[in-house]
Amino acid sequence: MMGDRLERKKETTRNALLRAAKRLYAQHGLYGVSIEDITSEADLGKGTFYNHFKSREELIAAVLQEGLDKLITSFGKESPDDSASPAASSRILFQRHLQFFREHPENLLVFHQARGWLKMAKPDGNPIRQEFKRYVDAIAEFLPVSTEGGFGREPPRQTLARFLAGAIAGALSYDFILGENSGPLFPDAIEFENLFQRLSPVSNRLDEQQPAVPAKRDAAPEVVESSFYAISDLSDWNQERFVAIAEEWRSLLSAASSIEDARQQLLNRVNQRHFETYSDGNETHESDRVIVRDCARAWRGLLHSRSERLSGFSVLTTMVDAAQGVRRSNLSPAFWAELGHLVYGIEGRVRLHGGDSLALSASLAGREAALVRSAELDRLGAVMSDWMARYEDGLSAEAANRRAARRHAILSRLAGEEEEWRDWRWQLRHIARDAEGLGGMACLTQDERKRIDTARQRGIPFGVTPYYASLFDEDPGAGRDHAIRAQVVPPQYYLDSFKRRRGVEDFMGEMDTSPVDLITRRYVAIAILKPFNTCPQICVYCQRNWEINEPLEKGSLAAKGKIKEAIDWLSEHPAIHEVLVTGGDPLILSDGRLKSILDQVASLPHVERIRVGTRTPVTLPMRITPALARLLGSYRIPGRREICLVTHVEHPYEATPEMVRAVSLLRTHGVPVYNQLVYTFYVSRRFEAAALRRLLRRCGIDPYYTFYPKGKEETADYRVPLARMLQEQKEEARLLPGLARTDEAVYNVPRLGKNYLNSWQHRDLISLRPNGARVYEFHPWEKKITPQDTYVGDDAPILDYLMRLQSIGEKPEEYESIWYYF
Ligand code: SF4
Repeated sequence: MMGDRLERKKETTRNALLRAAKRLYAQHGLYGVSIEDITSEADLGKGTFYNHFKSREELIAAVLQEGLDKLITSFGKESPDDSASPAASSRILFQRHLQFFREHPENLLVFHQARGWLKMAKPDGNPIRQEFKRYVDAIAEFLPVSTEGGFGREPPRQTLARFLAGAIAGALSYDFILGENSGPLFPDAIEFENLFQRLSPVSNRLDEQQPAVPAKRDAAPEVVESSFYAISDLSDWNQERFVAIAEEWRSLLSAASSIEDARQQLLNRVNQRHFETYSDGNETHESDRVIVRDCARAWRGLLHSRSERLSGFSVLTTMVDAAQGVRRSNLSPAFWAELGHLVYGIEGRVRLHGGDSLALSASLAGREAALVRSAELDRLGAVMSDWMARYEDGLSAEAANRRAARRHAILSRLAGEEEEWRDWRWQLRHIARDAEGLGGMACLTQDERKRIDTARQRGIPFGVTPYYASLFDEDPGAGRDHAIRAQVVPPQYYLDSFKRRRGVEDFMGEMDTSPVDLITRRYVAIAILKPFNTCPQICVYCQRNWEINEPLEKGSLAAKGKIKEAIDWLSEHPAIHEVLVTGGDPLILSDGRLKSILDQVASLPHVERIRVGTRTPVTLPMRITPALARLLGSYRIPGRREICLVTHVEHPYEATPEMVRAVSLLRTHGVPVYNQLVYTFYVSRRFEAAALRRLLRRCGIDPYYTFYPKGKEETADYRVPLARMLQEQKEEARLLPGLARTDEAVYNVPRLGKNYLNSWQHRDLISLRPNGARVYEFHPWEKKITPQDTYVGDDAPILDYLMRLQSIGEKPEEYESIWYYF
């Protein structure tokens, strides 16, 4: 009984979504309606949608299906007998369509736009495509059997059905485009017999020219498909597969007389492929040509003997061994996947694009081009909006309700009052410092409890504020709060590597860039002042995890004399225009202590900007009191000095109305707020970081930097391949307005500082590791100003990353271009 009721409820909700979609699509079209619009029209929560439809395309297909069912049923009335001519049947079909759309005008826009939608969709398995196929089959079914013998060049019934569907759709489209003055939709006076007679010579010519018609993406050549199969078939990479892909390379390598000869042979092949692809007459799609160019650059980097020296590994030797059938057991599937994709790339066997660009093709111009381009952009906008709808943000009504309930539960557990909750000192007094403490405020899995216990036993700092604990969900399996949990609960690998090495490393080489205690300097005009060495809660992947104390640990504030020495040192370096006051989190100092430090910084005549690094807007927003905002704002002297705050919001689900209020208060006092995002696995799904940027801007926070996670061994679980970060910048962030994607993607090079990832000139791919990780050589920012050594760093293996995404329900094929970002 219970099961029946649940099923009925499910059915009712699904129907409500369908009805809402139909209503909105009829009014605004497919592109003008977001999933949020539909759930709101149906008076349902945003998250409900994906319980009933896998994607927006599945919903469109369901709406289409309803309309097509009715249309196809209408064919059935008075269907012509088998002796009727194709022309007579076609005429009836035209009339039935006309009648149907008169009676059901709400379907017209959906039918029209759904075809456009498919133009740029993936070839297979698309539910909308299946619906149109069913429609064409129904038309074929309607045509008389005599059509099997055909007319004119006698095409089969299916061809005529496709032709008729196209003619009807064309007439409908032009009626839609030209509007009221376009005359009757299907003039009954059309002489179908004559029309077909005239068309048949065209049909003959097309048939004769068949081989010359360029291949469409739907009919991609075999090599193209094999590239994409490589992506869906993640677990099947090995030496044999690589050798089979690189047959010509195997011949070159087998015939080489020495390693140096093999190097030269492959280099020649790479240069030849690059040159040929850019030669006149080469038919590679303009947009795919760059893959060959980029792979050529990558191969040159991998093949060079200098790269082998720098990285301590020879990719060339592994390929020579593979060609000669020598097994190298230490080479992982991820290694072979990299090599395989690099061969696909340089050999021009990857096609991410097919057909002509719609709006920018020479055949369209003016308003016509603009309309087509605009429809194309609407489609991209719809794709973006579908992806973003998957990530619930913390400002939604559902999240607010959930968190209000969590807050009440925590207050009751801690015997606190609402007023106390808003008191930042009360929050500090109740920081959870172990699994029992956090488990009393939030629902933890057994595994999470165990890991927190292990962290405590091993002396790894740990702490979570009650406010932040209220952001945890009751149902961790729902996956909304995965980034929040990952922020504070250490993963097993972190704990194990900590144990192995009895401590974690100073990855950024802070010791080597600290000219005096409390100061770090990596740049000409900026210095970091770290007077306070603790935070209200501890981020697992903190850059300074090797030196940060337990939350609020005594002695974390540097002695007055030490701070004075640091200020004196700053006063002797007038090149420094900006001082970043961080730690630790300086905003958990009292207003008085903070003022004493900031006053000293502000007294330096050459300091034009004071930057405060803090996570309190996210972990303890009640700390941003009116008095604190006033104090910070008092350091702003227009024309002389500014002050700003840099925070770290990691995921849209971390946002809350309290955070928004804190940011507004700061801005009211002239203190702008910027965000530094660490691009970890937990915010790396398609459009997840883009959703965060949009949200931040709405909250008054400017995206500032997006960091590649530091290459520290213990934080390996957080890392994503650099290629994914670049892909996100080019394929997701790029779709946002410039004012929402103000962040710069950077790799923090130990001792040297930020390397700007959007400039490929700043790095070279030089090798692979046996585990498939890419090895890059990063150039120092001052490379053309002063001499400085480069830095060699390892990445995270792409194949492993894709498999991990797959394990959380992502489709690796939706990330397929990742292999071609270097
Ligand atoms: S708030 Fe900053 S300094 Fe403190 S633990 Fe987190 S990352 Fe480290």
